[in-house]
Amino acid sequence: MRLSAYFVPTMKETPAEAQIVSHRLMLRAGMIRQMSAGIYAWLPLGHRVLRKVESIVREEQDRAGCQEMLMPTVQSADLWRESGRYDAYGPEMLRISDRHEREMLYGPTNEEMITSIFREECRSYRDLPKLLYHIQWKFRDEVRPRFGLMRGREFLMKDAYSFDMNFEGARKSYNRFFVAYLKTFARMGLKAIPMKAASGPIGGDMSHEFLVLADTGESAVFCHRGLLALEPPGDDVDYGGDLQPIVDTWTSLYAATDEEHDPAQEAALGGDLVKARGIEVGHIFYFGTKYSKPMRAVVAGPDGQDIPVEMGSYGIGVSRLVAAIIEASHDDAGIIWPESVAPFRVGLVNLKADDAGCAQACETFYANLGRAGVDVLYDDRDARAGIKFADMDLMGLPWQLVVGPRGLKNGLVEIKNRATGERQEVTMESAMSHLMG
Ligand code: ATP
Ligand code: MG
Repeated sequence: MRLSAYFVPTMKETPAEAQIVSHRLMLRAGMIRQMSAGIYAWLPLGHRVLRKVESIVREEQDRAGCQEMLMPTVQSADLWRESGRYDAYGPEMLRISDRHEREMLYGPTNEEMITSIFREECRSYRDLPKLLYHIQWKFRDEVRPRFGLMRGREFLMKDAYSFDMNFEGARKSYNRFFVAYLKTFARMGLKAIPMKAASGPIGGDMSHEFLVLADTGESAVFCHRGLLALEPPGDDVDYGGDLQPIVDTWTSLYAATDEEHDPAQEAALGGDLVKARGIEVGHIFYFGTKYSKPMRAVVAGPDGQDIPVEMGSYGIGVSRLVAAIIEASHDDAGIIWPESVAPFRVGLVNLKADDAGCAQACETFYANLGRAGVDVLYDDRDARAGIKFADMDLMGLPWQLVVGPRGLKNGLVEIKNRATGERQEVTMESAMSHLMG
């Protein structure tokens, strides 16, 4: 992409309305714009990151054996009356009516809808287990939308649902998501810690929120220092095997959010206690027959008797993650994207756009890197070097490739690593091989 043609309205000034760094940087880097309170448009640069985050989430759900589908955003109120949640949900639900004055709503979540889909199609224990997910926009009319994408009203969520015959099956499904979440967040360069969360009416230990530690997080969190050093599982995880040992490793050390925390256990940890703030990026939750019973989602067991299915739901805040990654990875100059979610891998900076040699070298790099499958944002603008450097640092691409007339005389260009700030003068050939790596 050529920056001269790209729609990326960066700004120098700090927008007054933004209180936290991720919100400020997303506005300044031209990634998002607010359309209404808590409702944002994703401009091209932001959209590329959102799509990358979404793909990582998708890949890890698929690997865990979960099947992607897509449910609508608009739902019928009647469905929610079946579970009793239409009245219970309160003012967070955006209620709408269609031209026939039928009551509809913009989905804040999809338990009712997936349960109704499941019950129509699956009638036998042989149909189980089923793990289904979608990545879809949600609307929650939050009392206090704030911090940009962190607490929006419209936001993108991955929500998955599991259906099992019995508790043992439900635990296996739960464990799949637990492990998939550890892998997902690690791939985005995040340390997300599973913490015991409120488990609702059924009780039990199968409810965890995954939190990224950050000073701007909305929740106070308490955990054992050892959790920060644990290595997340790698690609060799066998989802067909026993995942309980992995889950046990992560749950054997103390970790809880403010609602669930236990001062006595914390006191016992002494110097191993970490008290911090955290951003909730995911929540996994086993809720048994909470929906299957009232909505009559039953399957015939081996003996022919109807059994309500055991369910769980598993959310990831996809749009919130984009902000969480920035909270975790930035400096005074701007964003520092981890390679896995960067909108482009390389920012190509032409220091003298009106110099024929520079332009030609840049065009060659742009074409060759593009052919090699490397995403490049080429700053071909006729602007001062200072402006170009500032914009590149702000947008935070992992690598900057700087081409100027002085170096070029000796056949040299500069490569800068955005994260470490390290600069290297190298030949054009070695720049190519370096950036293709
Ligand atoms: P919170 O306590 O932050 O309101 P929640 O318990 O309502 O979250 P879930 O219903 O479990 O959230 O939703 C799954 C995930 O969706 C959350 O872990 C979070 O990452 C994300 N999420 C929830 N509400 C919002 C929001 N208003 N804006 C952006 N992301 C959100
Ligand atoms: Mg909420």
